[in-house]
Amino acid sequence: MSLDFDSDTPVKGGSGTVGRCSPCNRRVAGSSSPSDALVIGILGTGDFSRSLARRLVACGCRVVVGSRTPSRFVALFPEEAEVTHMEAANQADLVFVAVYPEHYSTLVHLKPALAGKALVDVSNGLQIKQEGPSNAQQLADLFPESSVVKGFNTTSAWTLQAGPRDGSRQVLLCSDDQMAKSSVMQLCRRMGFIPVDMGLLSSSLEIENLPLYLFPSWRTPIICTLALFIFFYLYNSVHEVLHPYITGGKNKLYKLPIEIVNVTFPSVALVMLALVYLPGVIAAFLQLWRGTKYTRFPDWLDHWLTRRKQFGLCSFLCAALHAVYSLCLPMRKSARFQLLNKAFEQVKAGNADSWVEADVWRMELYLSVGIMALGLLSLLAVTSLPSVANTVNWREFTFIQSTLGYCALFMGTLHTLIFGWDRAFLAAQYHFGLPPTFLLVLILPLTVLLSRLALFLPCVNHRLRQIRRGWEKSRHIRFTLSSEDCFNGLENVSNV
Ligand code: NAP
Repeated sequence: MSLDFDSDTPVKGGSGTVGRCSPCNRRVAGSSSPSDALVIGILGTGDFSRSLARRLVACGCRVVVGSRTPSRFVALFPEEAEVTHMEAANQADLVFVAVYPEHYSTLVHLKPALAGKALVDVSNGLQIKQEGPSNAQQLADLFPESSVVKGFNTTSAWTLQAGPRDGSRQVLLCSDDQMAKSSVMQLCRRMGFIPVDMGLLSSSLEIENLPLYLFPSWRTPIICTLALFIFFYLYNSVHEVLHPYITGGKNKLYKLPIEIVNVTFPSVALVMLALVYLPGVIAAFLQLWRGTKYTRFPDWLDHWLTRRKQFGLCSFLCAALHAVYSLCLPMRKSARFQLLNKAFEQVKAGNADSWVEADVWRMELYLSVGIMALGLLSLLAVTSLPSVANTVNWREFTFIQSTLGYCALFMGTLHTLIFGWDRAFLAAQYHFGLPPTFLLVLILPLTVLLSRLALFLPCVNHRLRQIRRGWEKSRHIRFTLSSEDCFNGLENVSNV
């Protein structure tokens, strides 16, 4: 079915006259009579149907709505739309099936009326399906003489009602009938949406699953962040709350809401940032070991590489929260009491000057490096936004995400090293024989940074560059060149 979208002929509406037909009032291609103008049918009178009818009427289309009980719902539709019994579908050239898929079988009596027409299946599933048939394929099986087009299921009733200025403008469409699909695509454009051709009806399962996914690319990074948070929170609680209670009977529970959270967030942030760069390092070593870039990475590594942006954003969130918590530390009553107590003890001891040069330097450096790390992380987070990423070229993007990213990792590691200072060598820091938290945190970032340094060694770097330009160990042969060729600077190695 092909539709003529250039007609500008008056068409009579259902319960009223639409007036002068807008470009959306069409006729079947090849016909010239005004009585053949395109009619859009909608089966069902639910939320979706009402919003769709409103949108279609707004763009000047004639709408016929099929219902089991038309009189009950007619008041809910715009008066230009004709709400009538289901069989009225035979007036339409293109029919939207706005009925839940479990009720498709109740529509089979409309088979003759719908034969030869484009049926748009707008339904969504209840749960993600790995295997077909999809709702659209089931509809196609029930109506073999109609052309089923899958689409509009990712467009909410609200978006239809508010118009494409609000919500996603993309409408994913697929069908085995190219003509029916292009008719729906044209109608889609007229409604102000952007049709996206997703191919054959076999893609309908994927399109139906789309609205059901719950942040699929965020699941692993969020689970990692939560797992690390719980681990470090408990570890810090053992050090800061449990140890003083067991060894000295001191109640340090007040530390749980702020102090422990504040030392946990930077630990999670740094480990998560290391996890952004670790898969790249593993991939590089794997390529060096295999001597080719043409062998697939294991699935877990592939999965990890595609989630690096999300890992980075989780790291940024934790670092930002650490900054906010740190700024709030002096506001706490506990901090004020501790400061007063210290001052009082100093006065009692007759100590007029509490300045410790090493401590002062440590804190100045610690804060400065931490602020720089957070600044770089913010830059990485901003450039990972699609609207910003689209404004930089590939080299600029790689520079920010890789070079500046490693700088952020280095700064974060330095921040933690300065925090540790000489504490790693003090036996008193090893409560219950457990190393202080910052030592655990440093393992992964230092491993990543040192591995990256190893990849910069000229011999390693040269081989990695060769591999990434297509060189392969297994296809690499050596042959002897004449001394003249060697003299001319030709190499005696080649890929076959
Ligand atoms: P709804 O409000 O429950 O409406 C469903 C309509 O189906 C009913 O009003 C009813 O109209 C009709 N129907 C026909 N035969 C039926 C039967 N045997 N039993 C019950 N109802 C029957 O649902 P909706 O929200 O409009 O959704 C309709 C379809 O659009 C669903 O497949 C849904 O997945 C899809 N969708 C909805 C949205 C949304 O935002 N709501 C978004 C995307 C896709 P009559 O009583 O007049 O016959």
